[in-house]
Amino acid sequence: IEQLAYKLNVPEAAIITWLFLQGVSVTINQVVDISIASQVASHYDFTILDSSIHTKENHKNKIDIINGQKRAPIVVIFGHVDHGKTTLLDSIRKTNTVSHEVGGITQSIIGYEVEHQYFATKEQLVFLDTPGHQAFSSMRLRGAQVSDVAILLVAADDGLKKQTIEAIDYIMNNQIPYIVAINKTDKLDLNLSIVREQLANYNIVDQNMYGNSNIIEISALTGKNIDLLLNQICELSNKLSLKSDNNSLAQGTILESYLDKQMGAVANIVIKNGALKVGHTIVSGNTYGRIKAIMDHTGSKINYAIASSVVNIYGFPSIPEAGLHFQVIKSEKNSKYLINKYIHKHTESNINKSLNKRITLDSCSNKSRLKQVNLIIKADTQGSIEAIINSLAQIPQDKVQLNILSATSGCICHKDIDLATTSKSAIIGFNTNIETTISKLAKKLDLNIQKFEVIYDLLEYLQDYMLNLMDIEY
Ligand code: GDP
Repeated sequence: IEQLAYKLNVPEAAIITWLFLQGVSVTINQVVDISIASQVASHYDFTILDSSIHTKENHKNKIDIINGQKRAPIVVIFGHVDHGKTTLLDSIRKTNTVSHEVGGITQSIIGYEVEHQYFATKEQLVFLDTPGHQAFSSMRLRGAQVSDVAILLVAADDGLKKQTIEAIDYIMNNQIPYIVAINKTDKLDLNLSIVREQLANYNIVDQNMYGNSNIIEISALTGKNIDLLLNQICELSNKLSLKSDNNSLAQGTILESYLDKQMGAVANIVIKNGALKVGHTIVSGNTYGRIKAIMDHTGSKINYAIASSVVNIYGFPSIPEAGLHFQVIKSEKNSKYLINKYIHKHTESNINKSLNKRITLDSCSNKSRLKQVNLIIKADTQGSIEAIINSLAQIPQDKVQLNILSATSGCICHKDIDLATTSKSAIIGFNTNIETTISKLAKKLDLNIQKFEVIYDLLEYLQDYMLNLMDIEY
């Protein structure tokens, strides 16, 4: 079903739903016989001939199902905050990104393509840099969902921590091929057997000790065994035999999205199959557009991107929702069909689900026993919004309640000022700007606008604010 969906360029769920309506119940990984596959293909105006799919109108558009091209593995590094993910990635890229991070934590998902000499061949590897801070769990999850290989990073001097265990659970539950890297082994007075014992508690035992896992001792700082780690990733991905059909239209996942003042909606995407070109029509969620520009991980404009690439694309009329599947489609007619399907399926975005739905503008003015803080959140990206909302949800709210009236990406604008005035809300900006005229207006109206660059600071501010509102208990 999954392969059929790729070939037909329709969402897997659409095929599963259609078959279900025909009385055939299937799952995404299920192999169906040729008669069922043919019926599905026919429903979407395709014909299946042997192992190839031809469109009815254009038989020259033959796509070979069997012969895919090798694609680079997408690697995600998991680890507790401060265990060295950024330093490891930095060491792999041999540049220095660690000093550019605001507050020292990686705040958004970024993909890096690197080349590694693996015996006689130069292998491409794609690394996703996902934030370690607990607030960004949705972003980490997106990184994990699209990755082929995981590196579980454990600091030798700290051992297994909450996010390490979370990562182990995720890796095991989703059966992601992984390599364990014990980091910071350059440090003195280490007892590595403690870390190995902790790992063994989760059934992670080195293959040299008759286990099934690959555990490497590295130092991201000194570069010790980094080459060995990259070799192991190449070996593992060769075993996985990762393929893409670069003759087909691209499909993949929206990792991040935001609004750029000059360029409009920007989507950071990872391509899982096929190829993407400037001029292609791309659909995701309930938005679609023609690709105006593609930017690679170095910020250079390119015309063409193949599977496993992580690129920024420009051309969506509005920002697509992070975490959603995207696909390139052939015609407007198809895009309208797909969009309708998507809208049906995603009537509510994940973010809206996380928002406090009980609270409407009317109910804000209701006198309730609870003290309430109304918030308007403006952030740089969808991922940041999710991270903020997820974090706010963790704050106990039995005495003071946070109501998020709106959470969108972009600059703080007139609309936010209007909403803040009518609803008596504080405006919380995260990595976002405010124009001088808007800022002046806000001052005149005596609005509370707070801007942050680090999520810890934002949370600290709100927690203090809530504490100040609490009645003193004797
Ligand atoms: P992240 O939060 O997982 O991205 O961790 P960072 O890469 O920001 O590293 C956190 C701290 O650990 C920084 O001060 C790094 O210099 C330090 N660090 C990372 N890797 C190593 C290592 O291999 N050895 C030592 N001694 N320190 C390291």
